[in-house]
Amino acid sequence: MQNVVIVGSGCAGNTAAIYTARANLSPLVVSGHEAGGQLSMTTLVENFPGFPEGIDGPVLVENMKKQARHFGAEYRDGAVLAAELGRRPFRLNVEGEWIETRTVIIASGATARWLGLESEHKLIGHGVSSCATCDGFFYRGKKIMVIGGGDSAMEEANFLTRFGREVTLVHRRGEFRASKIMLDRAQRNPKIKFLTNTVVEDLYDPSQHLLTGARLRNTVSGAVWDQEVDGFFVAIGHVPNTKVFRGQIDTDPDGYILSKGGARTNIAGVFHAGDVEDRVYRQAITASAAGCMAAIAAERYLEAEGL
Ligand code: NAP
Repeated sequence: MQNVVIVGSGCAGNTAAIYTARANLSPLVVSGHEAGGQLSMTTLVENFPGFPEGIDGPVLVENMKKQARHFGAEYRDGAVLAAELGRRPFRLNVEGEWIETRTVIIASGATARWLGLESEHKLIGHGVSSCATCDGFFYRGKKIMVIGGGDSAMEEANFLTRFGREVTLVHRRGEFRASKIMLDRAQRNPKIKFLTNTVVEDLYDPSQHLLTGARLRNTVSGAVWDQEVDGFFVAIGHVPNTKVFRGQIDTDPDGYILSKGGARTNIAGVFHAGDVEDRVYRQAITASAAGCMAAIAAERYLEAEGL
């Protein structure tokens, strides 16, 4: 029987592990399919306080893990495949094995949607990114492309004009999904060029491990052309990793956990931390802070319940 099972090993999960381990709760962390979370896919992290020279994303997350292990956290590879949260103790199926636990911290994150091109996958961290706040700074004076037609794409395009020489927003349709106010703001920004009815067919040049350009196609005229680009930001939405909890944990229509205040979910003893609930900030530091909150909430819950 576990005191705390933490689902996910990104910033939120690892911070929850550090706090619950230091509270002597011997947490078990189920690493998940994307062990280390989104940080493990980035390169340099320059905005996590305490690292004036910046720190590599994978190193930061590995350090957090080491810190949690140091205090007695245990890590298990694999993912939670099923959950029974309507009974006490709770039961989680980890790669076929059922584990019983008094509390659960869901820190399973959200996965950025990608276009799905092989070249895109190969160039993540080498010019291709899904986070303008994280990586925009690296593209000072460079040519930037943003993909998407929703609020995220508008927001990222606007933000990236602080750094880039020019920002081209590429959207697959003629109409935008973004709210009027966000679209207006982007359209009024003289540094943003719009390419509508345009799709990305390929990215160059995975063999150099560096983004150098994109092949684009106009879906109306059929015209195909290459365009130079240094930074390519995909802003086509995120998918929260809550599938195994659906029907038990309250979520919004997109699957993000609905918070009941603090780190609480609709089930007492089950807490949320990080991007699985937060669709707004999505930063390493905010996910870590949420992990801390969930850990303290779990600790207090166990104490109050006399467990
Ligand atoms: P979204 O609203 O779902 O928009 C995703 C965009 O990506 C759509 O324009 C979509 O095109 C495009 N897209 C999806 N798959 C694609 C593909 N395979 N290839 C090319 N384009 C693709 O996602 P979001 O912009 O991340 O916003 C998510 C939610 O957060 C929304 O509710 C939004 O309002 C909110 N948000 C709010 C703010 C704010 O208020 N400050 C900022 C960011 C996000 P189609 O239009 O053709 O489907």
